[in-house]
Amino acid sequence: MSDELQLTELLIDGKQVPAADGRSFTVLDPSNDTAIAQVALAGKADVDQAVAAARAAFTAPEWAGMRAADRGRILYRIAEAIRYQGERLARLESQDVGKPLRQAKADVEAAARYFEFYAGVADKLGGSTVPLGPGLLDYTVREPIGVSGHIIPFNYPLQNTARGSAPALAAGCTVVLKPSPEAPLTPLEIGRIALECGLPPGVLNVVPGDGETGAALAGHPDIDQVTFTGSVPTGIKVAQAAAANVVPSVTELGGKSPVVVFADADFDAALGAVAASAFGNAGQTCSAGTRLLLQRGAEEFLDKLVAHAASLSIGPGLSDPDVGPLVAARQRDRVLGYLELAREEGAVARAGGGAPTDPELADGYYVQPTVLTGLDNQARCAREEIFGPVVTVIEFDDADEALEIANDSPYGLASYVWTRDIDKAMRLAEGIRAGQVYVNATGVGTGVELPFGGYKHSGWGREKGLEGLASYLQTKNVCIGFGSRS
Ligand code: NAD
Repeated sequence: MSDELQLTELLIDGKQVPAADGRSFTVLDPSNDTAIAQVALAGKADVDQAVAAARAAFTAPEWAGMRAADRGRILYRIAEAIRYQGERLARLESQDVGKPLRQAKADVEAAARYFEFYAGVADKLGGSTVPLGPGLLDYTVREPIGVSGHIIPFNYPLQNTARGSAPALAAGCTVVLKPSPEAPLTPLEIGRIALECGLPPGVLNVVPGDGETGAALAGHPDIDQVTFTGSVPTGIKVAQAAAANVVPSVTELGGKSPVVVFADADFDAALGAVAASAFGNAGQTCSAGTRLLLQRGAEEFLDKLVAHAASLSIGPGLSDPDVGPLVAARQRDRVLGYLELAREEGAVARAGGGAPTDPELADGYYVQPTVLTGLDNQARCAREEIFGPVVTVIEFDDADEALEIANDSPYGLASYVWTRDIDKAMRLAEGIRAGQVYVNATGVGTGVELPFGGYKHSGWGREKGLEGLASYLQTKNVCIGFGSRS
C-alpha cells in the first residue's frame, strides 16, 4: 500500500465523502502490481446513506419536477463531457483494468453513446390509450420505477456504468451504483462528471466496495429495482436478495459463446473478428466468442488463427499492445488454472498456453493468447467461462451438428456465424438459443442501439437499445368514466 496516494472518496448525495467506518482499499495497476489509488470502501452504513439520498432525490422537485426534455439535455451534456475528457478517462480505464489504450478509447466512445442515445428518448416515453368504448377513457402512463441499484463487474467499468445509469436516468429513476473493487475509478469519474453537467445531487450515487457492499445494496429494503452484471453465482444471490423484497432484477451474466466458422466462410474477414472477440480485453468480455466451432475442412482457418494469436503483442495497457494484462492476480491465476486443467483434459495449446516468459512482463498479470485443440464440447474448458484470452476449438461436420454443439452449453449470451451460404446462416440464426446472433459480423461498434442480454444461465432481462428502458419504467393504467353510460 502506498501512503502517498490521496483517498478517492465515495460519491453520495452530490458530495465526496470517506466511508463511514473509515475503511479503504488499494487499487493496483495490473501491468506491474503497484498501487495507483486508494479508494474509500463503502460499507452497509454508506449504502444506507446512498439509498436514502437516492430516495430523497427521486421525489425532489429538482429531479421529479424536471421536464423530460431537460433530463435528456443533461444526459446529452454528460455524453459531450465524456468525449471532451475522453483521453484522460481512457488512460485511467486502461491503467485500472489493464486494457489496451485503443480499447479503452472505444469504451469511452461507447459510454458517451449510451448517454447520447438515451438522452434522445427521455422525452419520448409516452403511454397509450386503450379503446373501451363510449363513456370511458383509458390511458397508460409510463412512470420511473424509483431507486435503481446497479452492481457492475470489473471488465468494462466505463461502459457498464453508462449502460445501466443512462437509461435509468432517462426514465427518471435515481441510481446507486456499486462498482467492482478491482475497477472503481472511472465509475466515480462518471458520477462527478454527471454532477458537473447539472444532474441534481443524490440522483447518481457511486459506492465502490466488495461483495458485502453489493449484498447490502441488492437486499436493501428501500430500492425498487436491481441491475446486476457479473458472474452466474453472484447473479443468483443478487436475484434472490432482490426477490425477497419483491424487487425485480436484471441479471447480465456470463457466457461461453460459440463462433461457428464454416469452410465456405470469408476467412480473412472472420479472422480479425474472431481474434478480437476472443483476445480483446484479454478475453475478459462476457460475450467473447470462446468456443470456436470449426467445420472439418476449414483447417486453414485454424492455422491462420494460431499464427495470428502467436503474433499478438503483449504489454501494459498504456503502451497500447494487442493484449494487456488481466485485471488482477486472482484472475490470472484462475485462467492459468484452467490452462492446467485443459492439459489434464487432453488439450493441445496450438498457440500460447501459459504466462509469457518475457522478464519485462513478470510483475504483471499476463496470460498469452491461447488456442486449445483436442477437446470436445464436454470438457470443462469447453463448458465453463474461463474469462481469459483462451479459445477452445471443436470440430463439426455440418450445420445440424454445429447447431447441436452451439446449443449444448449452460450459457446463451452471444453467438457468431461465419458462412457465405444464406441457408446455413439462417438455420443457425433461427436455431441458436442465445440473446444475440451475429452473422458475418461482430458486436464491436454495433452495441448501444441493440438489445443485449442472455438466454439460459446468461441471465434475464435486457439492457441497451430501447428495450433497455423497460427495466426502469412501470405502467400505470388510468380508467376514467364520464357522462352517462350503460
Ligand atoms: P462477480 O460476480 O465476481 O462480481 C460482480 C459484482 O458483484 C462486483 O461488483 C462484486 O463486488 C459484486 N458482488 C460480489 N458478491 C456479491 C454479492 N453477494 N451480492 C451483491 N454483489 C456482489 O463478477 P466479476 O468477476 O466482477 O465479472 C466477471 C463476470 O461478469 C463474468 O462472468 C462475465 O461474463 C460477467 N459479465 C457479464 C456481462 C453481461 O452483460 N452479460 C458483462 C460484463 C461481465
